[in-house]
Amino acid sequence: MGSILTALDTGLSLIDREMTILWVNQKVRDTFPDQEPVGQKCYRLYEGRDTPCEECATRQAFVTGEVTRIEKYIPGTSSAPGRWLLLATQPIRDESGQVLHVLESFTDITPQRQMVEALRESEERYRTLIELSPEPIAVHHQGKVVYANPACATMVGARTPQDLIGKPILQFVHPDDHDLVRERVRRMLAYGETGSLKEERFLALDGHVINVAVVAAPITFENLPAVMVLFQDITERKQAEEALHESEEKFRMLIHSSRDGILLNDEEGAILEWNSGMEGITGIPKEDAVGCTLIQVASRLLMDGVTIEDMEHRILAKIAELNQPVTYSSEIPYVEATIQHLDGSPRFIQAQSFRFTSRGRVLYGAVIRDVTEGKRAELTLKEYANRLKQSNEDLERFAYISSHDLQEPLRAIVSYTQLLERRYKDNLDRDADEYLHYIVDGGKRMQDLIHDLLEFSRVNTKGGKFRTIEANAVVEDTLAALLPQTQAAGVTIIVDPLPAVMADPVQLRQVFQNLISNALKFRKPDVPVEIHISAEQLKDKVEFSVADNGIGIEPQYFEKIFVIFQRLHAMDKYEGTGIGLAIVKRIIDRHGGRIWVESEPGKGSTFHFTIPAAKRD
Ligand code: ADP
Repeated sequence: MGSILTALDTGLSLIDREMTILWVNQKVRDTFPDQEPVGQKCYRLYEGRDTPCEECATRQAFVTGEVTRIEKYIPGTSSAPGRWLLLATQPIRDESGQVLHVLESFTDITPQRQMVEALRESEERYRTLIELSPEPIAVHHQGKVVYANPACATMVGARTPQDLIGKPILQFVHPDDHDLVRERVRRMLAYGETGSLKEERFLALDGHVINVAVVAAPITFENLPAVMVLFQDITERKQAEEALHESEEKFRMLIHSSRDGILLNDEEGAILEWNSGMEGITGIPKEDAVGCTLIQVASRLLMDGVTIEDMEHRILAKIAELNQPVTYSSEIPYVEATIQHLDGSPRFIQAQSFRFTSRGRVLYGAVIRDVTEGKRAELTLKEYANRLKQSNEDLERFAYISSHDLQEPLRAIVSYTQLLERRYKDNLDRDADEYLHYIVDGGKRMQDLIHDLLEFSRVNTKGGKFRTIEANAVVEDTLAALLPQTQAAGVTIIVDPLPAVMADPVQLRQVFQNLISNALKFRKPDVPVEIHISAEQLKDKVEFSVADNGIGIEPQYFEKIFVIFQRLHAMDKYEGTGIGLAIVKRIIDRHGGRIWVESEPGKGSTFHFTIPAAKRD
């Protein structure tokens, strides 16, 4: 027993009614090594006092016979740190129940006190953290909220966290997620599993949906098994994600419904995007293209005679070009190429390429248009135009040669018939004279026709150089040549001041001559002729007008009259070959101008035509 008491870590001392120490164990002796405890007053040994303590538990024990336990802090000294002691008093009674002695004990509980203190401090720290946390945190036990921090109250729209206590946790979970949450809580409580981060839909008190990321863990809360839940309001992130998703969807739709080919590749040339337009143009399906390099894909589309080296060279050159700094104003580089579709047909393509940086990664893109149809039409058109040009040239040559060569024999026919007429007139009968007259007449008319035809065919081939000329001088020349007709009674010709033009003088004279001659020829009987020549200077051309007060032209002939051999009247009424206006039109065409007529039958006609203006210095 003695050895037990000695070994005890608790100091024991037996005190009598006078507060004198009767016995102590080794712990007390060890605690006060410099003093002899036995025989001393307890307040002297333990408190260093000369009088008893005011509130002394031992004295109290003698009076009441109660057991007391108090924790007391003993301040430290220079040599020893302060300590917490658990002081206990145990009354010891005699047979009659009278308290004879009191057994005082003290135990150093400093380590326990420190632990409790640390625990309290840590709990307080965590509570403060949780209270102040901007992230919502709640604890639930048996499906009911037992704790919620202010952020949690704000998230669900409660006035205070207190308002949430006691509410069923499932009230705040979207019905579609109830099973999920129930299962998670079950597993958590059964196996102590900590729930990983999950996305769920929560409901605020007013019923609106809050997207949250949730992580939950089993804890003991006020000695009860509970679940602590940490939320993160991800509504905004979710909305941003949805907006992004939607916009991505839109662009994907646009790209995939485009008939133009669209492709994307990275810096190594690996293809990342290949839309259905590309599939149509090349015949290569998306799954065969994505992941391959541009060169690999291009090698399947080579036209006969094009080497992969050529193609590679072109693609690399293109990329090098794209790596030049581009501004928004610079034109997107554009190339044309011919590729071979997998079905073997050639395809003309136009490609516009661009380079951009996405999240620090350089990407290249190209929009490719299949212009095969357009190109074919263009080629066909070119071919037709060439053929037309060739056939026109042939015709011109034919008209020139035939009219030129016809002149000679015709002159012989006319001359000899005239000779015959002169020498044998009145020697033949009257019919023969008349026939000879018809032959000469027909021959002359044919000569006129051939002459005009020759003129017509010469417009392009024998045209002179364009030079700056004063239009007034040209008109004056023309009128001088037409002097006999213009001087006739009842003819008034007004010529406005006219600007200088850039033209072939001989041909311009021909234009005025034909138009003025027609104005004189197609006059109204018994009405004095009035001709007005005017001009209007436009930007880089001059519009001339030759107006008369003649018989006019029906609107349906406005176009027709410029066609060769088109005449509106019988020969006996108005003479002519029907080539005059065709020559005029040809000349105007040669000058890059335009000719048209405005007329009202019975009132007169105005011929308008344009000629390039003289260049100003
Ligand atoms: P031509 O005068 O030899 O008949 P053109 O080619 O000069 O041939 O003219 C074609 C036709 O246009 C003429 O036959 C005539 O019917 C009509 N025409 C031309 N100029 C005039 C005009 N100033 N007034 C009315 N009709 C005209």
